[in-house]
Amino acid sequence: MLASVIAASTVLGLRYLGSLQILELKTFDRMITLRTSEPRDARLVIVGITDADLDTYLGTASVSDQVIADLIRKVRSHQPRVIGLDFYRNLPNRPGTQELAQVFRTTPNLIGIEKVNGNDERHPIPGNAILRAADQVAASDIVVDMDGLVRRGLLFPAADSARILEGFGLRIALEYLAGEPAAITPEIDAPALTLNQTPFPPIEHRTGGYVDMDARGYQILLNFRQQEHAFEVVSLKQVLHDQLPSDLMRDRIVLIGSMALSRSDIFYTAGQRSEGSPPIKFGVEIHGEIASQIISTTLDGRPLIYTCSQWLESLFIIGISLGGGYLTQQATKLWQRLTFIPVASLLVIVGSYGALNFLGLWLPIVPTLLGLWVAAALTGAHRTSRLQVLSAKDKLTGLANRRTFDENLQQLWFKALRSQQPLTLMVGDVDHFKKYNDTYGHPQGDDCLKRVAQAIRTAVRARGALIARYGGEEFVVLLPNASADQGVAIAHAILDKLNAYHLPHSASETADHVTMSLGVTSFIPQLEIPPSALVEMADLGLYTAKKLGRNRVQLHQPDTLNRLMLDT
Ligand code: GH3
Ligand code: MG
Ligand code: MG
Repeated sequence: MLASVIAASTVLGLRYLGSLQILELKTFDRMITLRTSEPRDARLVIVGITDADLDTYLGTASVSDQVIADLIRKVRSHQPRVIGLDFYRNLPNRPGTQELAQVFRTTPNLIGIEKVNGNDERHPIPGNAILRAADQVAASDIVVDMDGLVRRGLLFPAADSARILEGFGLRIALEYLAGEPAAITPEIDAPALTLNQTPFPPIEHRTGGYVDMDARGYQILLNFRQQEHAFEVVSLKQVLHDQLPSDLMRDRIVLIGSMALSRSDIFYTAGQRSEGSPPIKFGVEIHGEIASQIISTTLDGRPLIYTCSQWLESLFIIGISLGGGYLTQQATKLWQRLTFIPVASLLVIVGSYGALNFLGLWLPIVPTLLGLWVAAALTGAHRTSRLQVLSAKDKLTGLANRRTFDENLQQLWFKALRSQQPLTLMVGDVDHFKKYNDTYGHPQGDDCLKRVAQAIRTAVRARGALIARYGGEEFVVLLPNASADQGVAIAHAILDKLNAYHLPHSASETADHVTMSLGVTSFIPQLEIPPSALVEMADLGLYTAKKLGRNRVQLHQPDTLNRLMLDT
């Protein structure tokens, strides 16, 4: 639980600070490009003016007013519902300026562009005066993310300015929708632009994986169609030479724009247009995608790309982290430990992919996976360390167990051997414990052992002392760097403590309460003796203590056997 909370808050902190932003956006891109591809939108046709049109056909690098005028007239004759002209015509580009002005005046379903927001590289560009006067311009501004990719679309470039101008894609879509049999008009008074009861909620500074992005104006996340070209594209030459199917443009949207790689109207998107080619889109295609997205959402119910609110996403991340911690806690068998988290990760990935592919819901995959993994790792580490503690301790008394004692004895023995310091050990055994069990029952016997352990624990205050339950009712205390006298003194302290407890033992032949006997030994380890000699010597002390009447401490030294006998 704690591990999961730590994991989740770490991940949420990282996310808040923006450390995960690029990873999240790149994952989002990957998911977007992995989606099942959709058919082209037949409502739009693009007349793309390509490098071939410019060089070989027109023999010039710029598109003159004459060409544009001829082109619009041709397109107009195919009776499209809306014509979008993605060329700035604020300055005359002779020849044909008069003719183009005439075309502008007589084509009410034509929408031109202007650029609203300037930046370091590009200045605002006003729309054509004639189109502007007739309210036939929209904003061509395109927002680019900090990694250079287009993922967002501007519906209104400056929603808060006095002059409310639609983005080019939105304006085209609105013109198209107004021409539907049951004309659809926008409602903008709600917090979101609503078309045909479908809201297009604007994105905020923190949306999905975005952290503090520039959300000025009114922006939505783009839902590109996964196609090399999302629309039918025809060339200038095809249109001017009447090489089109007769009803290709009828009642459709026709966007006219540059599709020349030599010009600057090129943007990068996550989607790979086709194997090997760079994932670029021309400005006119981006505007087309925006228009197509708005129309298909309004008319066909095609999903937009939605995100949950930030706190709901955080809740999701916390939830999955808790799940990760819980699964790791529950996984006791090897196969469970090997499969639970990978399977959970796979579920998160597949679930998020499904949500994006079918519902357009962008879930926070990266932070969720991170939370899951960190929670699992922390929980796993904690569990391992706890298991180690458990396997090192005696369950009944909480003291170190025999295994731990043996390991420590080895280490401390060789340490003392190197430093030639004395090592002191005492072995204590409860007197007449069998009788205690017989009299009071085994469970009571267990309680008695706990009290004995408590007596030892409180009496032994020496630093570095290792107290262990050696077996049944036998306890050992290992004291590094302690002298025999210190060891004997501590043993007496234990004895005094236990006697002070005065635990009734009616069957004891020694006293009316529980007592114990202790053997103590202390010597400087020598190379030719094994560590087990320490236990043997202390055991001999214990044996003597028992023989001499119990409830006492007996020091046993290798060379001074039975020299000291200490009564209580
Ligand atoms: P002595 O004074 O000579 O040590 O007599 P004793 O009865 O204590 O000696 P012995 O070693 O023969 O008996 C030990 C008894 O301790 C036997 C066993 O039933 C009991 N015992 C060992 N482990 C446990 C335990 O974990 N819980 C309980 N309740 N009894 C235990
Ligand atoms: Mg015993
Ligand atoms: Mg005993």
